[in-house]
Amino acid sequence: MSTENSPLFAVRVEPVVSLLPCPFCGGEARPNTMRTSDKEMIRLNGRDTFHGVNCVMCGADTRGLLGSATPEQAAERWNRRAS
Ligand SMILES: [Zn+2]
Repeated sequence: MSTENSPLFAVRVEPVVSLLPCPFCGGEARPNTMRTSDKEMIRLNGRDTFHGVNCVMCGADTRGLLGSATPEQAAERWNRRAS
């Protein structure tokens, strides 16, 4: 019995987004995900998960705003700043 078409087995595949190197030190960029506390979540209009990108070398990140809603958005922000 195949489960290939079962929605229960659907896997959300993260698209591969290539990140530019850090604009400050040229280090490797790495996506990261942050979760807020419940209190913060209310303040942030119900979003409790935010995505960002940070440099593994110098710690530069895409803060500025409160993180991005999706990993793609975070990567886009990072790449825009890095270019
Ligand atoms: Zn860096």
